[in-house]
Amino acid sequence: MTNMKKINGLWVPQHANVVNHTHLDCVLRHRDVVRLAAQAGFENFAEPFPALTQQLWKTAELLGKTGTVKDRALIARLQRRAVSAYREDCFARGGDLTAYVAAIANQLVPLMQTVENIKLFTEHYIEDLIADHTIGAQIRFAPHLHIAGGLSLEAVVEAVAEVTANAPIPIKLILCALRGEDGEAKRKEAKEVADLCIKYSAHVGAMDLAGAEALWGGIPQWWWVEALRAREASGGQCGITLHLGEVQPATPEEIQLLKDNGVFVVGHFLHNDDDELYQECCPHSNFTLTAHPSLASGQFRCHSVGRKLKEKQHVMLSTDGTTLIKTSMRMQMSLGRRAFGWTGKDLHQLSLNAINGGFYNEADKKTMREQLKLAYGAK
Ligand SMILES: [Zn+2]
Repeated sequence: MTNMKKINGLWVPQHANVVNHTHLDCVLRHRDVVRLAAQAGFENFAEPFPALTQQLWKTAELLGKTGTVKDRALIARLQRRAVSAYREDCFARGGDLTAYVAAIANQLVPLMQTVENIKLFTEHYIEDLIADHTIGAQIRFAPHLHIAGGLSLEAVVEAVAEVTANAPIPIKLILCALRGEDGEAKRKEAKEVADLCIKYSAHVGAMDLAGAEALWGGIPQWWWVEALRAREASGGQCGITLHLGEVQPATPEEIQLLKDNGVFVVGHFLHNDDDELYQECCPHSNFTLTAHPSLASGQFRCHSVGRKLKEKQHVMLSTDGTTLIKTSMRMQMSLGRRAFGWTGKDLHQLSLNAINGGFYNEADKKTMREQLKLAYGAK
C-alpha cells in the first residue's frame, strides 16, 4: 500500500477511522461489477444494467478486438463513461427501497458466487478502506447468499477470511443470518451460521441479524438461541450483534434482553436512544433509505448522531455500503465537522467507540488506540 506512511512504526493516516458496520455485498467497486457483468453477459441478470453502460462497454469491447493501438485511450474513455453511468444508476436507486434491494439481489450478489470473485471484491474493498484512512474494520456478509453457484458455506467464509487474514489492517468478519418468517428454513439457516461462527471463530467477531426489519422486526427466537449458542461454544470469541432500531424503534423489553445477556453493540439504533449500548451509526445509509422521517430533507445536521455524541451516547460512524450509497468515512467525518462542529477530539471519540464496541483482538485494539492518539493528539 503506497499511502501507508508510518510514525513510530504505526500507520497514522490523517483522518484515521474505524469501520465496524459494512456489508461485503454492498461495497463492490462499480468498475468490477460492470466488467464482471459484461463477462457474464449483461442479458443474464434479472435486474437490467443501464442501457448506456451496456452500449458503451460493448463498444469498447468491439474496439478492443478490431481497433488499433491508437484506440486505447478511446477504449479507456468509453469504459470510464460506462462505469460512471452505472455508478449514477446505483446512487439513484437510494430513494426506492425496491430498486435498491433489486440491485443487491440481482446485480451484485449474483457476481459473488465464486471463490475468485469473492476474493477479488474483498481485496479491492480493503484497498478502498485504506484509501479512506480506515485503520481497522469489521466486514459482514450472509454466507447463505453466496452458495447459489455451488460453493459450500465453508468455502465462502474461507474465501473472505483468506484475504482479510492477510490484510495490512486488522479485520474481523461478522456473519449474518437474514430476517424472515420463522420456520424450519430459518432455524436451519441460523444453526448453520452459528456453526460457521464457531468453526471460524479465529476470524469471526460476531453473529449478526440483518435484513428487512420492517417486515420481521424484533429479536426472533430462532436467531437468538443460535447466536447465544455460537457465543457459548466459541468460548466467547464470537460475540453477538444485530441490526436493530434501523427503521422502527426497538422496545424497552428487547433492549433489556440484550443487556441482560451481555450484548453491547447494535447496528444503527436510529429510532432509539441508550446510554450503554454501542451504536453503529451509518448516517448516509439512513439518508439514502430515509430510515427515519426526520431525514427527509437530506441535511446531514438532521441526523441524530450529532446529538447522541454530544450526549455521550456510545455512537460511532460506519458506511454500511459504498456501491449504492454515495458515501465514505472521510465524507461523513467532514460533513460532521460542518454540520455539528465536530473537532478532532470528537472524531477521535467516534473511532474510540468503534474500537471499544468492536470485536477486534485486544492487541489490535491497543494498536488502533495508539494510531488514533497519534492522528488526533493525546487527550
Ligand atoms: Zn447493515
